[in-house]
Amino acid sequence: MRKEIAVISGDGIGPEITAQAIKVLDKIAHKFQHNFIYHQVLAGGCAIDATGSCLPKESLEICLKSDSVLLGAVGGPKWDNQPSSNRPETALLQIRKELGLFANIRPAQLLPQLKDASPLKSSILDKGIDFVVVRELIGGIYFGEHRTREQNGELLATDIMAYTQSQIHRIAKVAFEIARKRRKNVISVDKANVLDSSRLWRKVVEEVAAQYPDVSLSHMYVDNAAMQICKDPSQFDVILTENMFGDILSDEASMITGTIGTIPSSSLGEGTLGLYEPIHGSAPDIANQDKANPIGMILSAALMLDYSFGMKAESQAIQKAVEKILDAGYRTGDMMDAHSKLVGTQAMGTLISEAL
Ligand code: NAD
Repeated sequence: MRKEIAVISGDGIGPEITAQAIKVLDKIAHKFQHNFIYHQVLAGGCAIDATGSCLPKESLEICLKSDSVLLGAVGGPKWDNQPSSNRPETALLQIRKELGLFANIRPAQLLPQLKDASPLKSSILDKGIDFVVVRELIGGIYFGEHRTREQNGELLATDIMAYTQSQIHRIAKVAFEIARKRRKNVISVDKANVLDSSRLWRKVVEEVAAQYPDVSLSHMYVDNAAMQICKDPSQFDVILTENMFGDILSDEASMITGTIGTIPSSSLGEGTLGLYEPIHGSAPDIANQDKANPIGMILSAALMLDYSFGMKAESQAIQKAVEKILDAGYRTGDMMDAHSKLVGTQAMGTLISEAL
């Protein structure tokens, strides 16, 4: 199969880790007879340096024309004084919006090899962690009106949390479709005891659930969900939630599975075009030192093969290669323990590609 992939290496550790993902994808292409064409796309701080804009028009056009987008990370202190309309992170929000990527999917899975890196007790971890957070990505409070104005002699700030029925309907469908391929259980997280937007959320999710009689649905308030993720993460299969709740809960979910360096994510729209990125940022503190963990990026590429290109066997081959290298005791600095062998970013990428 021939696939065109837009690659946003970005800033900080971005270029180092995307290079490792491409190394692994090249091996997959060779082994499974595919043709992957990479288009390097400028976005983020490096794009500001080169063109003055965090997302040049041409970059967006390349992403829109590609079969999928792979992203390292953008941002860093160098660009912190940019106006908010031209910050590196604004490029990301723009890409998500222009590509219609309304569903953010973050698996939270405990690799047994990294059990020691989790802050949870082994009595909790022994029950396993294997769930997916399905987060609505282009609605809710992040995209509602933000206003600061003067009222009665003081400043008043408001942020509007708004959802339409159709926005809720389409993200709920994604969650139920994913649950159908897993353990067939959706827990929808909201704050329906307080918020109107959550009450509408609950009503629409129940309507969608009626089309999936094979999948069970229950509801949980977001404050309780935050507690339950720490107390008994094994109870979750698919968590369906809105933009801000999902932002917070998915960070919590990544933390309990160990290091931030190993977690991939995907953002999807109506079609097969998606954006795949590790959940961490550009880690400027370790950039250009061959210290970054490339596994989150490599597993993001594996998700791309599965979700966007329908290459399940290829995706599983990458997952197995990662596990094999962790089983053999190789670790980057963020995963190190007394019994492991320390390797750098490039060596980790090479080991995983050779394990394929
Ligand atoms: P960060 O995720 O970049 O770093 C947090 C900590 O985790 C750091 O100590 C870092 O060294 C470590 N870390 C992160 N990824 C690692 C990896 N692969 N291997 C080993 N260690 C890793 O978060 P931050 O420091 O808050 O943000 C740095 C910059 O990244 C900021 O400019 C922020 O806006 C940006 N950011 C970008 C994205 C994105 O591009 N999607 C996401 C979050 C933050």
